[in-house]
Amino acid sequence: MTIQDHVPLAPLTTLQVGGPARYLVEAASEDDVREAVDFARAKDLPLLVLGGGSNLLVADSGWPGLVIKIAIGGISQQEENGTLLMDAGAGVNWDQFVAQAVASDYAGVECLSGIPGSVGGTPVQNVGAYGQEVSETIEWVRAFDLKANRVVILPEEACGFHYRTSIFNTTERGRYIILRVTYRLRQDGTPSLKYADLQRHFAATGSPPSLAQMRAAVRQIRQSKGMLIVPGDADSRSAGSFFKNPVLSEVQFRDLATRAELKGLKIPSYPALDAQRKVSAAWLVEHSGFSKGFTLGAAGISRKHALALIHTGSASAADIVRLKETIQRGVEKTWGILLEPEPVFVGF
Ligand SMILES: Cc1cc2nc3c(=O)[nH]c(=O)nc-3n(C[C@H](O)[C@H](O)[C@H](O)COP(=O)(O)OP(=O)(O)OC[C@H]3O[C@@H](n4cnc5c(N)ncnc54)[C@H](O)[C@@H]3O)c2cc1C
Repeated sequence: MTIQDHVPLAPLTTLQVGGPARYLVEAASEDDVREAVDFARAKDLPLLVLGGGSNLLVADSGWPGLVIKIAIGGISQQEENGTLLMDAGAGVNWDQFVAQAVASDYAGVECLSGIPGSVGGTPVQNVGAYGQEVSETIEWVRAFDLKANRVVILPEEACGFHYRTSIFNTTERGRYIILRVTYRLRQDGTPSLKYADLQRHFAATGSPPSLAQMRAAVRQIRQSKGMLIVPGDADSRSAGSFFKNPVLSEVQFRDLATRAELKGLKIPSYPALDAQRKVSAAWLVEHSGFSKGFTLGAAGISRKHALALIHTGSASAADIVRLKETIQRGVEKTWGILLEPEPVFVGF
């Protein structure tokens, strides 16, 4: 295990801004993880666990401690009464994992095709898209518990999954280093078809899509929205959606509806959002004076998606923060709602 010094973090993130890590180590096994933790403890360094860097905004000052870049690999499959237990190392690329599940004709993660990052990153914010969330398929998470100083198995019920949250990014933030994740997939091969974009895509075809067709459709739609990392596409140089869809109380929802009515607008309604009383953050942003392609210095909003913050290549993390705050202020002034950022802020 080689411990590197003063390593630039920007190239290890999809947003590509931010300063260096004081130390960085790549951990390819559970033993490496333990060794790295021992190193950090011996030097009293703060720890940052890094997966694919697709949900991070790193400060321009970087990270003052040790970054453990998780590189634990390996996928194994085990059939059990019509379901498939698929276990993967936390460092496995998520989209490659989905590709393998779909190729084996097992359903459960096909709508999550094209999401960047690692397997180990998926439980952290209960990754979701197009009507699926990983909490629906995660069987258990194997993790190194920094508090108890041992490896533990956390069954799905112990992970506290909700919309974009789990214990890993709320109550137990910083406690666990995820080593492996096991997902239970269905053999029937029927893909989930809950989202309007997808229903429209398949409207002309008489029969339900196969898992492979669903995967291809999701990737195609994502690409059209800059939500698939494509080298050379500046609109995909982001951390994905920068703001969560706000979940409103009844009172907040009524206030929003009144404000919309006064402006002659109607809040868009999508079954997938309504079920959890969520409102589209993209709609709020676009109806607060921030259109796709809006720029503020070297930072801006993607030309393909109102929720993705991007930059021209010369922006700093501070520029991204300035844009984020400008949007938050604008949305709050117009709609009385404070948008909550989705990416993790590192070193701020
Ligand atoms: C273009 C684009 C599209 C996206 N679309 C979606 C989407 O549709 N839905 C969605 O939910 N997300 C989406 N995202 C966000 C992101 O891809 C996911 O949140 C992803 O799961 C993050 O994984 P990662 O490995 O990159 O994590 P990182 O960005 O490296 O880390 C994110 C957080 O997880 C922690 N972490 C990572 N790995 C581990 C581990 N092994 N153990 C403990 N903690 C860990 C980190 O410490 C950090 O706090 C998108 C991002 C981009 C850039």
